Amino acid sequence: MSVSDDQSQDPDARLGAQLVPELEQRRREGLYRRRAVVDSPQGVCVNIDGHRYLNFSSNDYLGLANHPRVVQELRDAAALYGAGSGASHLIVGHSRPHHELEAELADFLGRERALLFSTGYMANLAIASALSGRGDTIYEDRLNHASLIDASLLSRARLRRYRHADVEALETYLTTDQARRKFVLTDGVFSMDGDIAPLAELLRLAGKYQLWLVVDDAHGIGVLGSSGRGSLESLDADGCEQSILMGTLGKALGTFGAFVAASEPVVETLIQQARPYIYTTALPPAIAAATRVSLRLVRDEPWRREKLHALVERFRHGARDLGLPLLESTTPIQPVVLQESATAVATARLLRERGIYVTPIRPPTVPAGSARLRLTFSAAHEEEHVNRLLTALDEVTECISR
Ligand code: PMP
Repeated sequence: MSVSDDQSQDPDARLGAQLVPELEQRRREGLYRRRAVVDSPQGVCVNIDGHRYLNFSSNDYLGLANHPRVVQELRDAAALYGAGSGASHLIVGHSRPHHELEAELADFLGRERALLFSTGYMANLAIASALSGRGDTIYEDRLNHASLIDASLLSRARLRRYRHADVEALETYLTTDQARRKFVLTDGVFSMDGDIAPLAELLRLAGKYQLWLVVDDAHGIGVLGSSGRGSLESLDADGCEQSILMGTLGKALGTFGAFVAASEPVVETLIQQARPYIYTTALPPAIAAATRVSLRLVRDEPWRREKLHALVERFRHGARDLGLPLLESTTPIQPVVLQESATAVATARLLRERGIYVTPIRPPTVPAGSARLRLTFSAAHEEEHVNRLLTALDEVTECISR
C-alpha cells in the first residue's frame, strides 16, 4: 500500500485535520464566516442563491461599480491594453492609464504625487514598512482597520494603541516618547463604526510633536467633503503638508485598487523601498482607465454625495424614531449594535427573509460584545428603499426582543 493510500483511509492523517476542532468551536460560537455567491453586479439589488435582495452591505457608496460609462471604459481599455498588466510597475507593468490616473488623483487631492497600489491592504503595509522600522513608534487608534495594525507589525516599529479617538491619551504617550520617528496611523472614517477620526486635533499634535500622520481614508474618499476629497475636507482641515493619505478605489470609486497621495519624497521612497509595491503585479491597466472615468464622475456629479447624505439622514431619523441602537456616525456606514453575535446573525437572517441583505459583523472584526449589523448606503438607493429597510428593521427587532 502506498503512503497516500494509507492517509486516505485515516481521516485524522489528512493535512489540516488538527484544525477541525477549532473550526467546530468557531461554528458553536456563532463566529463561522461564509461567503455568499453573488450572481449580479453590485447595485441596489443583488442576486444571491437564486433570491433577489435589496442590498445594504456594499461599499459602492456612489453607485459607480456598475455605472455604464465606467463599465464601457473598462471594455474599451481592455481592447487596447488587454486583461492583465503582465508585470510589476518597476518591470514593464506601469502603463499609460496608471500614469495618468496617478496624476489625476494627485491633482484632485491637492498633493504632489499619488502612487497606485493593487489593494488598500498592501498600500498600508507599504507605507509603514517603507517609512518606519526598529527604533520608531507607531501609534494606532484601537478601532483601526486590520491592515493598519498588520502594517505596524510588518514594519518592526514599536506599536502602541490608544483608546478610540482619544487624542489626550495619545498626547500623554507622546510627551515621553524618545523614538527616532513617531507615526500616527488612523482610519479617516472608521470602517465598522462610521465615525470620523479627530483629524484636526491629530494634525495639531503632528505639528507639535513632529509626527508622521497617516490617514487611511478608504471610506471617506469620494464620499465626504463638498468635492469628495474625503474626511480632511469634511472637517475643513487641509493637512496636505503634514499627512500621508491612503485611499482605496474599490469603494466609492467603484473599481479596484488603492493609492497613496503624499509629497514627492514620500512617494519616491515608496517606489524605491516598499516591498508591497515592488514585488507585486500592477493593477490591470483597464482598471486604471475605468477609474479615471469614476474619478471624473466623483468630481462632476456632486449630486451623488448630496443624495447619499440625504438618504443617511432619512435613515437616522427613522431609526431614532424606532429606538434602534445607532452609533454617532454621520457617514454612509450606519451600524446597529446588537452586542451578541448570535443576535446579529439571527437578525440578518430575518432581514434576508424579508428580502434585505445586510451582513452581520462579529468579533474579531469588532470588539467582543459589540456584534452588529453594518448598514451601508449608496447614492443608488432611493428613499423608498430606506423606508423598506426601516419597516423590516422594525419587524425583525420586534421578533428578536420577544
Ligand atoms: N482600510 C480600510 C479602512 C478598509 O475598510 C479597507 C477595506 N475593507 C482597506 C483599508 C483595504 O482596502 P482594500 O480592500 O483595497 O484592500
